[in-house]
Amino acid sequence: MYELNAKIRDLEPYEPIAGDYKIRLDANESFLRLPESIQAGALHATFRVELNRYPDPAAVSLCRAFAKNYGVPIENVVAGNGSDELISVIFQSFLMKGDTYATIMPDFSMYNFYGYISECRRVVIEKDKNWRIDVDKVLETCNNEGVKLLIFSNPCNPTSLGLTRAEVRRLVCSTSALVVLDEAYMDFWEESMLGEFQNYDNLLILKTCSKAFGLAALRVGFAVGSEKLIRAIKAVKSPYNVNAISQCMAEVVLNSRGECDAAIRRLLLSRDELQRGLDRLAARFPEQMETLPSVTNFVVLKTPRAGELFRYLLDASIAVRYFENMSALRITAGATGDNAAVFGYITRFFEN
Ligand SMILES: *Cc1c(COP(=O)(O)O)cnc(C)c1O
Repeated sequence: MYELNAKIRDLEPYEPIAGDYKIRLDANESFLRLPESIQAGALHATFRVELNRYPDPAAVSLCRAFAKNYGVPIENVVAGNGSDELISVIFQSFLMKGDTYATIMPDFSMYNFYGYISECRRVVIEKDKNWRIDVDKVLETCNNEGVKLLIFSNPCNPTSLGLTRAEVRRLVCSTSALVVLDEAYMDFWEESMLGEFQNYDNLLILKTCSKAFGLAALRVGFAVGSEKLIRAIKAVKSPYNVNAISQCMAEVVLNSRGECDAAIRRLLLSRDELQRGLDRLAARFPEQMETLPSVTNFVVLKTPRAGELFRYLLDASIAVRYFENMSALRITAGATGDNAAVFGYITRFFEN
C-alpha cells in the first residue's frame, strides 16, 4: 500500500469557513463588486484573448499596468497566481535545505505553511503582548540564529497593526537576511516601502489584487524587488502561472485608477465605521472586549469569550474569523448594513 510521507500525511486541504452565510466578513475581501462599467470593460477585453494559446509567461501588459500604478520600473516586477503562489515560490527559491527562516507571530498562516513544506528550519519570533513587532528583538534573532529569510505582513493580518516605514527601514538595513515584506493591506495605509525598494538588495515586497482592488477571484499578486531577486523568481515560477483571462481583466482594473481609488476610499469609510462601532461597544462592555486600532480593512476584537461569540455570530449567519490562539475575532469591514448587524448581535451577546 502506498504510504504518504511524514511531511504530508496529516495535512488537511485549506478550507475557508464552510457553509452559506448571509454576511461574509471572514476573508478580508473587498465587499464592493467592481463597478459595472469596469467589469463590462474587463470582460469585453477578454474577447482579445486567444484561448488556444498559452498566456504571456511574463504577464508584461499586466505588470506594466501595475508598475505604472505604483510608479516602479517594470523590470522590478513579477506577477503571481495570487501573492500566495509567490510566497511559495520565494520559499522554494531563496532557501536551501537546512536554511533557517523566521516569522513573527501571530502573522499570516501561509508563511508557516510554505515554510513547513520547504523543510527548512523555522524560528518563531513572538510579538509583544500588544501584538506589536519589537524590531530589536527581530534583529537580534535574525543575527543570532543565522536567519536567511524573514517574512512578515505589514500592515499585519491578523492583527491589523502596522510598522512604520522608519522601523521597516531599520529592520531591512540591519540584517543580511532576505526580508519579504507582504504589503497585502498597504493600500489602506501609507507606510509602503515601494517608493524606496531600490535602496535595498535584500528586500522583496509582495502586493495583491485580492484586497483593496476587489479581485480575489482572479488570483493576481505581485512581487517587487531588485532585478536580481525578480529574475530569480521568474526563473523558478512555473512558466504560465497567471492565466490569460486574469492577466487581461486585472490589467483593465489596474488601469482604472480613479475607480480603484474611489473603491479604496469607500472601504476605508467602512473600516472607520466598523472601528468606531466596535470601539463604542468596547467602551460599553469594558471588561468583556477590546479592539485594536486598525490600519487595514478589518478590525480585531479581543475578548475572553471569542469562541463563544464566533459561534453566536455564525448562528446569526454572520461569518467572521476566529483566532483561538489570540482569543480574538477578525472582522472584515462590510457594507453599512452588515457592520450594523455585527454591532447589533455583539450588543445582544454581551447584554445577556
Ligand atoms: C489576503 C492576503 C494575501 C493575498 O493573497 P493572494 O494569494 O494574493 O490572494 C497575502 N498576504 C496576506 C497577509 C493576506 O492577508
